[in-house]
Amino acid sequence: MQPDLRSHLALLERHGKLVRVPRPVDPRTELAALIIEAERRRQAILFESVRGSAMPCLANVVGDRAMVGLGLGVPPEAAVATFLERSRRRVPPVVGSEAPVQEVVHTGDAIDLRRLPLIVHAERDAGPYFTAGLVIARDPETGHRNVSYNRMMLRGPGEVGIRMMPPQHLGQIYDRAAARGQNLPVAVAIGNHPAELVAGATTVALGDDELGLAGALRGEPTELTRCVSIDLEVPARAEIVLEGEVLAGVAEPEGPYGDFMQFYVPVMPNRVLRLTAITHRRDAIHQTMHAGQAEDTTLLALSREAQLLEAVAAAGADVRQVSLLPTILAGAISIRKRFEGEPKLVLAAAFGRYRWLKLCVVVDEDVDVLDVSDVWWAITTRSRLGQGVLHLTDTSGFPRDPHGLHTAKLGIDATIPLGAWSEYERKRAPGQGRLRLEDYLAP
Ligand code: MN
Repeated sequence: MQPDLRSHLALLERHGKLVRVPRPVDPRTELAALIIEAERRRQAILFESVRGSAMPCLANVVGDRAMVGLGLGVPPEAAVATFLERSRRRVPPVVGSEAPVQEVVHTGDAIDLRRLPLIVHAERDAGPYFTAGLVIARDPETGHRNVSYNRMMLRGPGEVGIRMMPPQHLGQIYDRAAARGQNLPVAVAIGNHPAELVAGATTVALGDDELGLAGALRGEPTELTRCVSIDLEVPARAEIVLEGEVLAGVAEPEGPYGDFMQFYVPVMPNRVLRLTAITHRRDAIHQTMHAGQAEDTTLLALSREAQLLEAVAAAGADVRQVSLLPTILAGAISIRKRFEGEPKLVLAAAFGRYRWLKLCVVVDEDVDVLDVSDVWWAITTRSRLGQGVLHLTDTSGFPRDPHGLHTAKLGIDATIPLGAWSEYERKRAPGQGRLRLEDYLAP
C-alpha cells in the first residue's frame, strides 16, 4: 500500500514526534495556539476531538527537518541533498483502481463544509480558513496539471474565497479559463503524504506537473483517482477532497489573514470557489497548516535550501549543511573552509541564487545550522566584523515590500581563522551527542 498521511502519522508516533490531544478542542479559539505549542516541542499534533466536527484534525506533520526526513525516508542531515537529487527527475502519477478518499461522497444539498473543523488561525483573520489543501487544476490551453497551496476562507456551506492571483501558476491558469468565459474546475486534496506536501510547496516551471515531482520524491508514482463531479484526478489516498469550480470573472473581498511572515495581509478582492462535491474517507482526518509557523516555513524552505546547496557547491565550496529555518529569509551555511575569503564567495553565490535571502551566515562544519543558538554562538565567538562582512545595498529581495525592508542584504563570515583550529577547538563533554538522557531515566 502506498504511504499516505496515515502511514506518516504512524511513523511520527513511533519516533516520538506526535502528540495526541484527547480533550475536545474549540477550532476557533484553542486549536491554532496549541499547534504553536506542538511546534515548540517539535511534534506533530493530532486533535482527536474537534468541537463542531466529527473529524479529527492533524497539524505540523512536517514541522522540522527530522519530520521531513521521515517523510522522505532519510535522516535529517540528508534531507536537503536527497530532495536536490530526487527533484531532478519526474515520475508521473498513475490512475489506480482504489479510492479511499471517495468512501463517502456528498453532492448537491449534502455539500457542507461545516462538517470539517472550522479553524481560525489568527485573532484578526476574517474567519475560518482551510490551508493545507493541494489545489489541483488543469491549464485549459495546454492541458497541463498544476498543484499549489491556496488559502481558502469559508464563505458558506459550499463556497470559499480563494487567493490565486498571477504570477502564481493557478492565477495564470484561471485567467486563461476566465478569458474564454469558462469557470475553472479545481479539486482540493486535503490530508496528504509529505511527498505531495513538499512537491506542492516547490516552485517548478509552469506546465511542469508537481505530482510528477511528488512521484520522484516518494520513489513511485502517486496513485490518483478520478473526481466524481469534475474532469480532474486527485491523490486516491488523500483524506478529503473538495471538488468545484472557480467562478469566471467573479472577485469578492477575502481577508484579513495572518500570512507567512506573520503579518496580516489586508482584505483583497479574490476568487470564489463553488463546490460541486465533497468526498472523504469514512474516518477522515482533516489536515491544517498554520501560515508563518514551523510547518509552513519548513515546507517553503526545502526547495530553496536545495537551490543554495547546489549553487554553493557549484561555486566550488565544500558545503556541509544549509538551512533557511526558521524564516526562509535568513540562512546559515556550514562549509569546510579551504582559504580565507572563501566564505564571502559562498555568501555571494547564495545571495545570487536565492533572491529572498536577506541575512546569511557562513559557519564551520562543527556548527549546527539548524540550531539558531549555535549559529549565534558562532557569530559572536568567531566572526571578525571588521572584515568578514558582505553588505549589499540597492538590490532586491522579497517582493511585497512597499517600505524597502528587503532591498539590502547582510552576509557574515563566522568561520575561525584558517589553521587556528587548535586555538578555537570547541569543548565537548565526554560522550556529548552520543549519550541520551532518555536512556538514564529508568532506574
Ligand atoms: Mn506550478
